[in-house]
Amino acid sequence: MDHFRRIGLLRRRLTKAGLHGLLVTHLPDLRYLCGFTGSSAALAITRRSARLYTDSRYRTQAAEEVADAEVEIVSGAPAVSAVQWLAAQPGVVFAGFDPARTSVADLARWREALPTRLRRSLLTPLAASLIEPLRVVKDENELALMIEAALTGCKLFERILEFIEPGLREFEVAAELEYQARLLGAEGMSFETIVASGVRSALPHGRATDAKLPRNGFVTLDFGVILKGYCSDMTRTVYLGKPKAEERAAYEVVLEAQQAAIAAVASGTSGGEVDEAARSVLRSAGLAEAFSHSTGHALGLEIHEPPRIGAGQTVRLQAGMVITIEPGIYLPGKFGIRIEDMVAVTRNGGQVLTPAPKALIEL
Ligand code: ZN
Ligand code: ZN
Repeated sequence: MDHFRRIGLLRRRLTKAGLHGLLVTHLPDLRYLCGFTGSSAALAITRRSARLYTDSRYRTQAAEEVADAEVEIVSGAPAVSAVQWLAAQPGVVFAGFDPARTSVADLARWREALPTRLRRSLLTPLAASLIEPLRVVKDENELALMIEAALTGCKLFERILEFIEPGLREFEVAAELEYQARLLGAEGMSFETIVASGVRSALPHGRATDAKLPRNGFVTLDFGVILKGYCSDMTRTVYLGKPKAEERAAYEVVLEAQQAAIAAVASGTSGGEVDEAARSVLRSAGLAEAFSHSTGHALGLEIHEPPRIGAGQTVRLQAGMVITIEPGIYLPGKFGIRIEDMVAVTRNGGQVLTPAPKALIEL
């Protein structure tokens, strides 16, 4: 694993920020930096060493998973011990923490655990996360895992196509999809599976309900698996029965918008430009209003990571980012359509990681 390299890169940022230590409590960050996958821990990093604090439930697991930090088993709150250790390290005057990942109550508890003279000065809120800029660009190792997760998603789509038929309830489709995901080795789903059929497909976030799949109508399936910590995310909209000309035309426009956005993906391009590529196709078709959300988001250890691919986003894409491209249209009372792929940003464009078919499938 590349954890040692990751902590090394983080240390450089730490020094640049004028800090001597860092407290990390966000669990996906911990997993990223030292490999620990448990649910309660804190990592303290100085310019010289790194220590993971966790409780006795994770003694064996931490010993197996954590390679590049010393492990300390504590009985109280791991973050409190981590803060106290930082305070005791020679040369540590300022230690950063991420205010976006810290509650007011946590901060008060950490400060209380410090010697009085350090309470005001030691813990320094970071203006911006030091770990996020590392996590947005996936290394080779991470890319391989994300490709595997994405392909598992595609396999799932194939399996669910054989299962889907009119009269099934949406939650039965979701249950089958999630059951098959586990059989394919998924640790879990990366978010609540969306199965939105018939008029419900007009809900951008239609979680599966007891609604029955219609004899004639769209079904939107938006789902993702977690494989070795990494999330996949894809959407396909299929048709039960024979689509009307209007429905087929709408599908073609969404597909065209999706392909235009994928074609716009390249390192150096902004999220806003990629979004505009999709939006302009839908605008030309008179469907600007029906596209009510952003074109996509990055993902990795978490299902939603920065940057966002949306109108006005100026953040430039970098090779190694993995993003989704998921334009859709939603016509309340009628139907909705969304098509979503995972795309890895490369030096010369975008590489689609979810090659499942996109031509309208009629079941
Ligand atoms: Zn999705
Ligand atoms: Zn998505």
